[in-house]
Amino acid sequence: MSSPIAFLDVLAAYAELRGQIDAAVARVLQSGCYIGGEEVERFERDWAAYCEAGQAIGVGNGLDALRLVLLALDIGPGDEVIVPSNTFIATWLAVAQVGARAVPVEPDPASFNLDATRIEAAITPRTRAIMPVHLYGQPADLDPILAIARRHGLRVIEDAAQAHGARYRGRRIGAHGDAVAWSFYPGKNLGAMGDGGAITTDDAQLAERLRKLRNYGSSTRYVHEMAGVNSRLDPIQAAVLSVKLAHLDEWNARRSLIAARYLKGLADSALIVPQVPLWAEPVWHLFVVRHPGRDALRDRLADAGIGTLIHYPTPPHRQGAFASMASLSLPISERLHSEVLSLPMGPHLGIEAADRVIEAIGLLMSR
Ligand SMILES: *Cc1c(COP(=O)(O)O)cnc(C)c1O
Repeated sequence: MSSPIAFLDVLAAYAELRGQIDAAVARVLQSGCYIGGEEVERFERDWAAYCEAGQAIGVGNGLDALRLVLLALDIGPGDEVIVPSNTFIATWLAVAQVGARAVPVEPDPASFNLDATRIEAAITPRTRAIMPVHLYGQPADLDPILAIARRHGLRVIEDAAQAHGARYRGRRIGAHGDAVAWSFYPGKNLGAMGDGGAITTDDAQLAERLRKLRNYGSSTRYVHEMAGVNSRLDPIQAAVLSVKLAHLDEWNARRSLIAARYLKGLADSALIVPQVPLWAEPVWHLFVVRHPGRDALRDRLADAGIGTLIHYPTPPHRQGAFASMASLSLPISERLHSEVLSLPMGPHLGIEAADRVIEAIGLLMSR
């Protein structure tokens, strides 16, 4: 029997860059600077440049990145924020945590991303912002969303936790909307070795507010101009991220090769495979297929030694955290949640392993 194929191998990422990562961590330990400082500032500069954004602000994690943007824009109790009905729950939780109401809008099932044609029906006098998610590393169709936001005087806050390096109409995700939230959770395309997050924006004033908010509302020690939080990017994580950032494009290119292999190899299968619009340059955080018999397929792939995951098994409105929304009917999201399956994907998967996944699916589905 051939060796099992893991869904994602984060240890392989460490192994490839071990010398550099170990040296970077040792440098921070030796510096005596364990909060903020040059490592964080350097990564923020490099991340802003990479994202084609004017400013980057490091924070503690992706959820905080979303939450702090909402706080900085004074979005809170009595306000509504439009969110995709299908996303990782963090998008909704950020809205709930500032006291605002998450208003779900259904996705276009072909792209899994927010369906702009459904947004205007969800806008009320209380709506303050639209929060598109670039789900699975596929950029959302931003132009129609930005046009709606302009028409109604709304902010656009992008959840780019799965889209490091993706491009929309040739320009990187990073500052198309008012602010973009990033997560550097270890399994993301750019992952730290612990928690980490950032916000990018072209709005220098917003960036200034965010720099204070993440640090007790303070830019001068013991002077607190606003009620901030403690959510800072750790310098050890910043140093690791700087090492990995230099490899992000290459690692995303390897993901693209795997995705191309899957798209070709599964084109004639019974699975619904992802579509890539002409204006999109995705980064394949996940390669998500759909099938009505998803659960059985997943079990049989597991029997064949192939690891898959489900992103996500339960829609946010069916989670205990949003019990008050349990009676909502969001049929597109509900259907997607019952059909999606994430195949093994990552910069260290290898074409040979992808071919074995394709072959296993072919065998299982012809039975
Ligand atoms: C990972 C993720 C987040 C949250 O990031 P954390 O760093 O884990 O807080 C938010 N939104 C989406 C879509 C994500 O995938």
